[in-house]
Amino acid sequence: KLEIKKDPGPEHIQVLLNYFGHQNFRPMQWEIISAIIYNRRDVCAVMSTGYGKSLCFQFPSTFLSGITLVISPLIALMEDQVLSLEVSNIPACLLGTAQKKQKAVVEDIFKNKYSLVYLTPEFCTGDYGADLLKKMSTELSVVLIAIDEAHCISSWGHDFRHQYRQLGTLRTIFAEVPIIAVTATATSRVRQDIITNLKLRNPLHICTGFDRPNIYFEVNMKSSGGVFKDLNKFMSYEGATWKFSGSTIIYCITRKETEELATILKGSGIKCLPYHAGLSIDTREETHRLFVKDKVDVIVATIAFGMGIDKPDIRNVIHYGCSKSIESYYQEVGRAGRDGLPAHCATFYANGDFRILRCLNSTSSGSLEQKEASLKKIEEYFMTRKCRRRFILEHFEDKVDHLDKPRKTCCDICTKILCDARTDCEKYEGIDENGCYDFTKDAKTFLKAVSVFNSAKFGLGIYILFLRGSNSSKLHERERKHEFFGSGKNRSEAWWQAIAKLLVQEKYLLEKTEKTSMGFTYVAISLSDKGRGMISSDEKLVIPPTSTIVKLLKPKSNP
Ligand code: ADP
Repeated sequence: KLEIKKDPGPEHIQVLLNYFGHQNFRPMQWEIISAIIYNRRDVCAVMSTGYGKSLCFQFPSTFLSGITLVISPLIALMEDQVLSLEVSNIPACLLGTAQKKQKAVVEDIFKNKYSLVYLTPEFCTGDYGADLLKKMSTELSVVLIAIDEAHCISSWGHDFRHQYRQLGTLRTIFAEVPIIAVTATATSRVRQDIITNLKLRNPLHICTGFDRPNIYFEVNMKSSGGVFKDLNKFMSYEGATWKFSGSTIIYCITRKETEELATILKGSGIKCLPYHAGLSIDTREETHRLFVKDKVDVIVATIAFGMGIDKPDIRNVIHYGCSKSIESYYQEVGRAGRDGLPAHCATFYANGDFRILRCLNSTSSGSLEQKEASLKKIEEYFMTRKCRRRFILEHFEDKVDHLDKPRKTCCDICTKILCDARTDCEKYEGIDENGCYDFTKDAKTFLKAVSVFNSAKFGLGIYILFLRGSNSSKLHERERKHEFFGSGKNRSEAWWQAIAKLLVQEKYLLEKTEKTSMGFTYVAISLSDKGRGMISSDEKLVIPPTSTIVKLLKPKSNP
């Protein structure tokens, strides 16, 4: 019986080095692997793209000299993995294609020739496959079952696949074998679906976090100037032709769009090819190969292009048209910058794109209600005025504490906030001879706005809407008629956010966590006695230039 081990020992590192060529496990990898080999525990792992999911399910059978069954949705993806395993001297095979050699492969499986057996979900759930799996469960030492791209199980995820739903039978056949479900994108709802459907027992939950710090996010409306004008900022004019700044994928919604856009770009000398499911397999493979080998710079594709692309230096992922959900959007942009160097992900959309997607949704399988909810969310993402990274991470219920102030390398919204605040700061009239900032006037303006509401229940947003004279329906008639309505419209949203932060710091305002009637928590802002007193006194609020609040209002670098 194997004992529980905390850290990897030399015997693990040796296998890791010999077969996989790595010196060390990444922290989450070892946590998963040791839970599988020593505790025989089920695992549900959400790991960001590039973290190294495959090692988690490839290592155990290599180390234990047993067999791992891997179920994956795409044959091309499995073929790639089988090939690269064979190169590493790890025997692997694939069942579920229409190959003639299938019978010989099955015989070899029962001769214990393979360490990893890749299977399509269709194969596992068909009669022949199910019988074969039963035979394997009694005659072979299966040490692990891995479900790759496990989000395909859930209709709340993207790429829902019917056969994935039936994979729960694996638990019945292999009652004692640990199961690992892995994916790069899953909300807690999708994770719960995965656990229920696969009948995982007290699984180890692993989430490496979703943030991809080297990706810059940007969203624009398509301009009337046409696609060439929109994409121009990704190009430079060199040697009498246009060139893209690094390897680029441009996603379009329809096949026709990919062809048209590729023709336009080619017309300007850009090395570019279309890619969609309507092209022959040979053409698609060749396109993929040329892209990986840097013989073409740009692939204009439908979302058929993506899974299984192992190209670490994709610099731009551009959506020319909108995605159908945040999940698929994030999976697609996740293909950029796997080498950790800066990458740029931009969307250009028109309202008509939503109509096209709704039309496609109405004819594809799956719940219309869920597809509509996904579209609403992506629409919200396009329209948001908060940091896009924060929006995405909050969607996946990931940590956002590190996003406490805008960074110019983060997204278009952060860049704008920095720009606006800088402009406000440059024209700020209240700097005294010592370089100190006199915020008295703005502080009073803000405090007066809060006093108008006379309630401790409102969040910062409502006061800023009021100050900036917004016609949002969140403000009542009474407030819109008030003499202070719009009294701060000469300053940006970011400016007022910073002033509010200062007033909280200096205890003129109080913060309290509240719950809405729907159960969402938010921070309510109200006047303290000190704040109420300041409105009618001669008190001054002067802040030295070294204070963090001044830094917030006066960013050092020009975004
Ligand atoms: P994912 O499926 O999570 O996107 P992969 O399994 O394809 O990621 O691995 C991503 C890259 O990380 C691969 O190039 C792989 O060789 C590398 N990798 C995985 N584990 C390690 C490790 N422990 N040390 C160094 N590199 C690793």
